[in-house]
Formats: sequence, C-alpha cells, structure tokens
Amino acid sequence: MEQQWERVQDRMRGEIGDAAFRNWLQPIRVVEAHEDAVCLGVPTRFIRDWVVTHYANRIREVWAEVQGAPMEVSFVVQPVRRAAGGMAEPDPAAAPEVIALSPAPEPPEDREAMPAPLDKRFTFDSFVVGKPNEFAWAAARRVAESDVPPFNPLFLYSGVGLGKTHLMHAIAWHIRERDPGRTVGYLSAEKFMYRFIRALRYHDMMNFKEQLRSLDVLMIDDVQFISDKDSTQEEFFHTFNALMDQGKQIVISADKSPAELQGIEERLKSRLGCGLVADIHPTSYELRLGILESKVEQIRAEQARPDSAEIVVPPKVLEFLAHKITTNVRELEGALRRVFAHAQLIGRHITLEGTQEVLHDLLRTRERHLTIDAIQKEVAQHFNIKIADMSSPRRARAVARPRQIAMYLSKQLTARSLPEIGRKFGGRDHTTVMHAVKKVEELIGQDTDFAEEVDLLRRMLEN
Ligand code: ADP
Ligand code: MG
Repeated sequence: MEQQWERVQDRMRGEIGDAAFRNWLQPIRVVEAHEDAVCLGVPTRFIRDWVVTHYANRIREVWAEVQGAPMEVSFVVQPVRRAAGGMAEPDPAAAPEVIALSPAPEPPEDREAMPAPLDKRFTFDSFVVGKPNEFAWAAARRVAESDVPPFNPLFLYSGVGLGKTHLMHAIAWHIRERDPGRTVGYLSAEKFMYRFIRALRYHDMMNFKEQLRSLDVLMIDDVQFISDKDSTQEEFFHTFNALMDQGKQIVISADKSPAELQGIEERLKSRLGCGLVADIHPTSYELRLGILESKVEQIRAEQARPDSAEIVVPPKVLEFLAHKITTNVRELEGALRRVFAHAQLIGRHITLEGTQEVLHDLLRTRERHLTIDAIQKEVAQHFNIKIADMSSPRRARAVARPRQIAMYLSKQLTARSLPEIGRKFGGRDHTTVMHAVKKVEELIGQDTDFAEEVDLLRRMLEN
C-alpha cells in the first residue's frame, strides 16, 4: 500500500507541481491499509482540511487508476513532533495536540523570507521559444526588462507543464541580476494562502502586508488554488488592489484564463484580467524537438562527469520522443532523463530500441490489453511447465522462478494491482507478488542472461 501511495504521490506531483506537492502531500503517510480502503495520516488539522477540499477527490481518482479498482481514501490528523521535510512550519490548529500545556497562541516565527527560493535552471537562457509560447515569453521579457510595469498584472495561463513557473522564475532571475536593489517575491498560490490565513488567524495582517509592500514585484503561481472562501478572497482582493495602486508589478499564473477560473469572485476575475493575459499553447513537434536538444545539453552540464560527455543521443531518438510524448514538457524532460539514466546505468549507447524499452510503460499504458492469463500461458510455454503450476502451491525452483517472472511481467505489462495479480496466481498475498517483482528486478540487475530471457518474453507478449 505504501508503494501505491508513492505512485499516487508521483502522479500528483506531476499534476500539482513540486512546490505544492512538498507543502501538502509529501508529509502524508499511510497509517492503515486494507485491500480497498486506506487511511492516510496528515500532520496537522490545517493541512488535512486543505488536502480534503483541494486534493481528496483527485487522489481517489488517481488511486483507483493505479490499483485498477475503486479505493476508499480517508484522512486523519496524526501530529508529528519533529516535523520532517517541507513540514517545518508549526500549525496552530494542531498545537494543543502536540504540546499539552500550550500557552496562548503566538504567531509562528516566519523563517522564510518573502523572496522564495528560485530554481536555478529556470532562466530565459534555458527557455526554448517557439510559436506556441512566444507571446507569453515576449510578455515575460518585457516585464523583466522594464523598470515600471508595462502591463499590470501579467497573467500567464496554460495547461500543466508548459512553462509558466519557468517563465516566472526567469523574470525573477533577470530582475535580480539586472537590478539587485529591486526585490521580487515569488509564491505559489497555496503558500500565499497559507501565509494569508495564518496572518488572519494571528491578527498579524499588518506584518504580512508590510512584507508584501516591501516588494517591487510580486508573483503568485497557480492562482487556481486560491480557495473559494469569501473572507480570504475579499482580503486578497484588497491586498492585490493596494499593491497595484502602489505601482508594484504583479505576475500571476493559472491553468485557465481569468474568465474561466472557478470559485473566484467576478470582480477579482476582472481585476486579474485587466492587464495583459498571455497563454501558452500546447507544444508543437518543432518546439518539442528544440526543447529536447537543449535539455540534452543541460543534462550533460548538470552531470559534468567525464563519462557523461560520451553519451550520444541519436537524432532519431529525439525525433521519436518528440513524436510520442506530446502531453507536456515536464513529461518530455522526464522521459529524456530516464533514457539517459538507463544508458548510464547499463553502460550502453542510447538507441531507438532501448528508448522504446525504457519508456514502454509511458508509451503503451493506454493501448495495452494484455491479460494476466495470456502472460501466464506464454511464460509457462516458454519454460515448459503446466499453466496450472502458475497457481499451484509448488515451490520447486523449476516452477517458482517462472511463476515469479510471470508475476513480474503482469505487474509491468498490465494495469492490475498487486492484490489482483496475487489472486490470479492461486490466491497469493500481494506481498508475495511484491517479493516476486523485487526478486526478478534483482536478478535482471545481476544476470544478463536472465535479463535477456525476461526481455525476450516481454517482447513476445507485446507483439
Ligand atoms: P507549468 O508551471 O506551466 O506547469 P513548468 O514551468 O513547471 O510548467 O515547466 C515544466 C518543466 O518543463 C520545467 O522543467 C521547465 O523547465 C520545462 N519547460 C517548459 N517549457 C519549456 C521551454 N519552452 N523551454 C525549456 N524548458 C521548458
Ligand atoms: Mg507551475
């Protein structure tokens, strides 16, 4: 179940972005698991409420996809004493549960400065411009190069993974470099809301507004996550207006145009849309190819190891990726990195065939209709054992190993969950399947003959 949660987390990270992921979903742990129900432990009440209103439905959907059956997901507050990872901020709502004799609430210390850390890789230099994004790019450059707001706010919108965050960070880097005296604040909408609500709760609004006022440029990313609570929107609206009146440049991003944003008041929508609205279109083939070429250079530079320079990516492979991975740039880059990592790991050159193999799950998930029965049959035939032995309790190596391989391939080539696979193999427990998968992976890593045999089977099944 923990593994499933990790997979769900991975998918969610892709959808909501790293920053939001770290804030809300990363600290969540599985506390109780049944076959079709899971209980997740959330460190504070505040986070629980937020996660339940913003992400719970999507988590259920993703989980159902991952395990191939509906999943009941519930959340409980499980305070942690020593906050881990992104959970450094104490939460007032949970305080009584953590500290028995809590004094009157005090504003938690604000350790992070308003200018949030920026990703070093997200600069204008590393942003590849093409037809689908040139308008948004040009607008971002204008903002970065102007001393007074050329348009206010700049509102960027697009689907996920198309470069909004990249452009915002690029603006911030450019301004910092050109004029270190100007201060730029970059916040995810969730972080913004979190601080906002905290300030409201502690009657610390003055301080919060003071911080905002000290900025020259304020950027709020993924504004669709601004909650639909009226009181916070009201405050947000006033703060926003005040900053605009003071001539501060504001940059906003969202997944939709201002008019299409849901749960946001009309007057806030029209205010958001009153500057320049620029959308980034889905990538074109040419743009994807351009991005891949630049990412190859970037990956090489990052690794900067003597052996990484030798890795050559044939143009055919880049063309293949640009054709096949059309969803968004994040996935495109993820796929390229996987291809690189694989080549390095096994010390071979990157080939088209190898690429298809490494990415088979990405490329085939939608068109796959392979059944566990078909896998069992093929594997049994290959090793010359009876199909019945796939579900028999016999443990002799001659049948146990092929059975493990069949379980492994079922996991790899179908969307079935571990418990479902276990059931198909004579009602075995999902932990047995997990063990089989690990074992086969281990052997593949150690024994090239074995790896080739499994690979051969996989190919036969895929054709
Ligand atoms: P969004 O905020 O729109 O969801 P991001 O800005 O996080 O998307 O982009 C996702 C990934 O794709 C990042 O690693 C980013 O650097 C990369 N990316 C997106 N567009 C481009 C581009 N035009 N050139 C280079 N990299 C890009
Ligand atoms: Mg983003």
